[in-house]
Amino acid sequence: MPDRVLGAPGPVLVTGGNGYVASWLVKRLLDDGFRVHATVRDPLDETKTAHLEAIAQGSPGTLSLFRADLLDRGSFDQAMSGCDLVFHTASPLIVRGVDDPVRDLIEPATEGTRTVLEAANRTPSVRRVVLTSSIVAVYGDAADLRDIPEDRFDERHWNTTSSESHQPYSCSKTLSERLAWKLAADQDRWDLVVVNPGLVLGPSLSPHTKAEGVLVMRDFGSGYYRFGAPELEFAIVDVRDVADAHLRAGLTPGASGRHILVSETLSVIEIAGVLRRHFGDALPLPRNTVSRSVALMLAPRRGIPLAVARRNLGFPLRFDNSRAQAALGLTFRPAAVSVVEHFQQLLEDGEVRWAGH
Ligand code: NAP
Repeated sequence: MPDRVLGAPGPVLVTGGNGYVASWLVKRLLDDGFRVHATVRDPLDETKTAHLEAIAQGSPGTLSLFRADLLDRGSFDQAMSGCDLVFHTASPLIVRGVDDPVRDLIEPATEGTRTVLEAANRTPSVRRVVLTSSIVAVYGDAADLRDIPEDRFDERHWNTTSSESHQPYSCSKTLSERLAWKLAADQDRWDLVVVNPGLVLGPSLSPHTKAEGVLVMRDFGSGYYRFGAPELEFAIVDVRDVADAHLRAGLTPGASGRHILVSETLSVIEIAGVLRRHFGDALPLPRNTVSRSVALMLAPRRGIPLAVARRNLGFPLRFDNSRAQAALGLTFRPAAVSVVEHFQQLLEDGEVRWAGH
């Protein structure tokens, strides 16, 4: 397949352009002078688009917003017209309290991926699609690490343990990435490059986001862990590094395959330590780790299904991030920087409060 003309003057498409990750990507593209087509579900909803318009005003690039929905076949065609590069980031991100896993996660994620990639098949200008997958397409639960010969997950591994009833968000990301690879293999005009971010933290450009990282950081300010830290690890990556990775995945000649985007893995008690060192002792942070049996007892009260708690509490979580560094030339910010800057923003926005603050 001939190499695409990198940095060609045509527009580039970002699906779900108002999201937490996509907003940083749109900013990077606009700062670099690109003509950005961004899809949103409702271009007239200023609470979701005003920050993008503001970024565009001060940048050398241009921004056009288009209405599109993952469940509306054909709705991406107009936005994609003339684009040589497509970043498909839109996907429902609900980890806690999912009402109907198939309706709310699996269908929009997989059918949305089909809709966007079939639009790419109909759009002759498209040469590359960058898909925002996740590390949860690489593994299902931390316990899965025991089932592989390596001591850490890498791009060869796939999540084989999530389902509609167990970790349905992870299932939605796994099924949609698998579908994307299949649809990519069925044609030869565009190539597929996938990024697999861990838990994305760091300051948000979009004011409305309820992305998972916000919920995770809120728990540290709300007293959720005041009885002690469960032995649980988070594989963290900074939102600005994820945007950078998308850009590099889109523009690097010969880029291919999957790319694990994880800077470091930090446990709950390690994150608490980072926050205490930076913000002081007044925060309701855990000082010690609770035993596995106590953590298992507390899990359902914290809205965590017992089966999920059993397969994640007390298990180490390790990733090999060397491919993203070597293939895309990425440098990851330390996780402590993302944790502190994210928490700082939540404090300033009044999203995190505690007695004494
Ligand atoms: P986000 O802020 O919730 O963004 C999700 C985007 O998807 C929003 O623009 C949302 O639009 C759009 N979307 C959801 N359902 C849609 C539908 N039916 N039709 C059209 N658009 C729809 O979350 P994010 O963190 O930026 O996530 C972006 C991508 O990164 C997702 O693919 C997610 O799976 C992946 N990811 C995120 C993390 C993380 O920790 N945040 C980690 C790994 C991978 P609305 O604003 O209208 O809802």
